[in-house]
Amino acid sequence: MEIIPVVQDFTPPPPLAHDGKFHVRLTSGRFQNLRRLTSWPLIALFFGLVWVQFDGQPWLLFSFEQRRIILFGSALSWRDLPLLAGLLIAAACLLFFLAVAWGRVWCGFACPQSIWTWLFIRIEDLVEGSAVKRARQSGEPLAGLRLLRRVTKHLLWMLLALATAATFTGYFVPIREILSDSLQLQLSAAVAGWLAIMAGLTYINAGLVREKICLHACPYARFQSVMFDNDTQTVSYDARRGEPRASLRRGASNSGDCVDCGLCVQVCPVGIDIRDGLQAACIDCAACIDACDGVMLKLERPKGLIRFASEVQLRGDKGRFLRPRLAGYGAVMLCAFSAVLYGFTGTTDLLVEIRRDRGAMFRQLDAHTVCNVYQVKVEGFSEAHRFIDVSIAGEGHYDLYGPGRIDLAEESASWLPYRVCTRDPKLPRAVLTFNFDGGSVQTSKQTTFLSRSF
Ligand code: SF4
Ligand code: SF4
Repeated sequence: MEIIPVVQDFTPPPPLAHDGKFHVRLTSGRFQNLRRLTSWPLIALFFGLVWVQFDGQPWLLFSFEQRRIILFGSALSWRDLPLLAGLLIAAACLLFFLAVAWGRVWCGFACPQSIWTWLFIRIEDLVEGSAVKRARQSGEPLAGLRLLRRVTKHLLWMLLALATAATFTGYFVPIREILSDSLQLQLSAAVAGWLAIMAGLTYINAGLVREKICLHACPYARFQSVMFDNDTQTVSYDARRGEPRASLRRGASNSGDCVDCGLCVQVCPVGIDIRDGLQAACIDCAACIDACDGVMLKLERPKGLIRFASEVQLRGDKGRFLRPRLAGYGAVMLCAFSAVLYGFTGTTDLLVEIRRDRGAMFRQLDAHTVCNVYQVKVEGFSEAHRFIDVSIAGEGHYDLYGPGRIDLAEESASWLPYRVCTRDPKLPRAVLTFNFDGGSVQTSKQTTFLSRSF
């Protein structure tokens, strides 16, 4: 039986926190670098995109007030909402594909809950000290410098939560409007209330509740087991190599590579022991891999006691990456994204609504002339055409009374009155077509023209 040499500079695990709290220990390594490489650009995108403008228009805005969505500079109408639903379905397919291939890597590397939790933990680490220090001090009275640090931490958390809430709200109400209204203390009650709720939720989620959201509220953890198969690469402990484990500090000899240092548990943001096997709570953040690799390096042993591996590979067999289930999810994902891209090519530039005057079905002006009254609303979703010419067509001769040209800069989404008259109508109910011509864009809408009551 091989005796593992005791390494002198091995960092001892922190004592248990006296307050029973769970203090996450930060670690470093290649997967933590990879996580930073994915999370920092996402954070920068979240905080930055909301400020991007082209020609004075936001680049990304979901405006309930204007009944339009500005997606990457292009305006979509509410009629194009199915496209957004399609985009969400395509994103869900991508998530399923990733889950079959590499488990919950989305949760560990890109989920906002995880990213914000890491941010809050990092602030805690900077202000109150490392997890080891915090755990050791947890039994001491909260006074003096420790109290000051605790208050500073919560203030910084609140600031970050407020910045997050304001940025998120900025995707629905222009961010410059929120900022100037806030500075002038003219924020509407609705926006102020929404900001307070969002900031509170962010503070509670990332600062106080943290892993409990992943453990108890996230539905993804519940159905991930349906998607996993024996070839899914997920964070796993190699029990064949690690067991039997024994603590080096007790000077025990062991044949397994795990020295029971507990570091993999201390760095785990959801507080589980990966050595217990695949668990629904594991978010595949790979912090335990980096921590254990660091231990193995110090012990001069090969890295990878904890690693991304499939059930098949852990049994010592050669796994396969490409398999029917993964190909199926990949095909569905590609189809979903292609359909959404195709949908974007046919978005609505002009949205027209016509409604008949509810007061009178028709008006008989004299023995020969009959008129119908309509309300017409035109909404433009492109800056390319501003003026829309309106005309009518139908069986026979009709005269149109109302704005012949609509200025979308002034009258977009306004109900405009129109009167259509004809002499000697041939049919009691005729089909009438309103034509709208904006030069590069045309559309038409049919309605009925009544010349007697039914
Ligand atoms: S798996 Fe690695 S990090 Fe975890 S207790 Fe064993 S040696 Fe330590
Ligand atoms: S067990 Fe490892 S991969 Fe899973 S959540 Fe904990 S640290 Fe992250």
